[in-house]
Amino acid sequence: MIDFHTHTTLSDGELIPAEQIRRAEVRGYRMLGISDHADLGTMTSIIPMVVEAARRENELGRMKVFGGVELTYVRPVHIAEFVGRARELGAAVVIAHGETIAEPVEPGTNRTAIEAGVDILAHPGLLSLDDARLAARRGVLLEISGKAGHSLCNGHVAQIARAAGAKLIFGSDAHNPAQMPDRAQAERICRGAGLSDEEVQAMFANAEQFGRRIYESIAKS
Ligand SMILES: [Zn+2]
Ligand SMILES: [Zn+2]
Repeated sequence: MIDFHTHTTLSDGELIPAEQIRRAEVRGYRMLGISDHADLGTMTSIIPMVVEAARRENELGRMKVFGGVELTYVRPVHIAEFVGRARELGAAVVIAHGETIAEPVEPGTNRTAIEAGVDILAHPGLLSLDDARLAARRGVLLEISGKAGHSLCNGHVAQIARAAGAKLIFGSDAHNPAQMPDRAQAERICRGAGLSDEEVQAMFANAEQFGRRIYESIAKS
């Protein structure tokens, strides 16, 4: 299983990173992202902690763990600054908490996050075709969400991404171990969004490639 979008007690998840990593390993994960919610103030403490948890685990050569961040409710006007600062702090994966229909995220968040070059736009809700086209050009991955509420728009996201030629990625958005799916369940969620089996396999192959690329860049730094 490959999943870059999970939360720990460093934001509103239930497990500390060490337990999250072990629970994911038991669930069959090969690549795990810990991408806690953060804003401009809290990221300076959260990112170094998840990066260190990932670094120590990666020394063991078992799973590949990525210390990332999900910029959450950051005002669009601050998003570009946040993305730059998150990368300076060592975040391996930068995710934006997109404009879900389940929460009042500020309009303009999707567009600004894509323009700022996040790696993944999570649960982008009623994403526009224009924004999906920009995501395709910028190489921003659009998320099919495993989380209740956010997943209400999965079908729309799948359809718009296909029309725009944008790449998709699965993200569990797990806040506890019961929300971490195994690969078969994650594939079922993607199929439920209207994707064909080939599209789902391509999505996971792309996720693996993305993970390998960032893992190599972490190993070099
Ligand atoms: Zn989110
Ligand atoms: Zn999340």
